[in-house]
Amino acid sequence: PPAIRKISEKHDKVFVTGCLEPDTAQPRANATFVVLARNKELDGVLQSLKSVERHFNRWFHYPYVFLNDVEFDDHFKETVRNHTSGTVEFGKVGPDMWGYPDWVDHKVAKEGIAKQGDAAVMYGGLESYHFMCRFYSGFFYNHPLLLKYEWYWRVEPEITYFCDITYDPFLKMIEHNKTYGFTIAVKELRETVPNIFRYASAYKRLNNLTSQGLWEMFVEPKDPEQEKKKEQQQLPAEVLQSEPANNEPPKIDPEEMEGEKYNMCHFWSNFEIAKLSWFRSKEYNDFFEMMDRSGGFWMERWGDAPIHSLAAGALLGVKDIHYFRDIGYRHTTIQHCPANAPSRQLPRTPYLEKTTLDEKKRVEEDKYWENWDEVKENGVGCRCR
Ligand code: GDP
Ligand code: MN
Repeated sequence: PPAIRKISEKHDKVFVTGCLEPDTAQPRANATFVVLARNKELDGVLQSLKSVERHFNRWFHYPYVFLNDVEFDDHFKETVRNHTSGTVEFGKVGPDMWGYPDWVDHKVAKEGIAKQGDAAVMYGGLESYHFMCRFYSGFFYNHPLLLKYEWYWRVEPEITYFCDITYDPFLKMIEHNKTYGFTIAVKELRETVPNIFRYASAYKRLNNLTSQGLWEMFVEPKDPEQEKKKEQQQLPAEVLQSEPANNEPPKIDPEEMEGEKYNMCHFWSNFEIAKLSWFRSKEYNDFFEMMDRSGGFWMERWGDAPIHSLAAGALLGVKDIHYFRDIGYRHTTIQHCPANAPSRQLPRTPYLEKTTLDEKKRVEEDKYWENWDEVKENGVGCRCR
């Protein structure tokens, strides 16, 4: 193996990281990997496990919980056991957490889903995808196999880690009093969540929640044209009458019912390291309940990523969130490359050379997140890409 190098303090100062000798003598956190998967995804699961084990778990041996809406077959279980260095449990997700709840009119929901299929909304016509999103939004943390854990790290089929993670991110999050960790933030497909922000925003207002700085990450900066139109609408009638006769009536964007608009930004939840007690909190569950009752998991195709993100925006502050800028991660076509990640200095992942940001850009990005308050003042949007 390549020589382990000491990394200078200026790199990744938040959680000092890099290809340091992993400290495996510390006790482990009360944490587990969580993998929801289908039997037919075994190959993709193996790819993920090989990567997780090679870059992290061969030192730390955290356990895994595998979940499925049907039973895992013996071949799946046996193969997974042969590729993991921690203990593995396999569980079934019951109908209480998967599928239509009683209070939903199945016929209406099915029609809603079919409509989304016709409109070519991504995964919109796939009933099981709606079930999955709702499960990851409001139920996974209460699955019987997860109840004994306090922290989780989500893993999906077909992901890749390309830098060694030589410290324990759970312990670091505990040490720094963090609740939720992400490595990629991207923009959601608008047509999957046309009304999500209205409900999230209403939740925030109805519960008198004031932003702790994170909410703004999800708010579209105001459009000066729209603002002008709104002002005009509020002007006294005689002033409006003095406007040119061909003046178009002011149009207010329906998405702006709560006075602000979603910028589509969300933490990409296929990677997530988070505290389960937050998801289990009354506040989070009230939020989920309200979102759920709106029917958005059926009549729209709300993903668990924007749900987790908007809940975080409403309930958490910037200080509670950790950006794992040092974790090199890829899922399908989107990836995050830490530009000066230590593994890049080791000759083991050639394709990183092509894709990483240059040092200057990375430093800017780091500043962006770390000085979030300052950035916000300056009116810059979210760091989605
Ligand atoms: P994408 O990442 O949004 O393209 O969606 P995926 O197909 O990867 O689904 C997200 C996660 O949910 C993955 O871990 C899948 O294995 C899992 N998943 C999706 N649909 C189902 C399903 O019907 N049954 C089970 N057991 N897992 C599912
Ligand atoms: Mn996936």
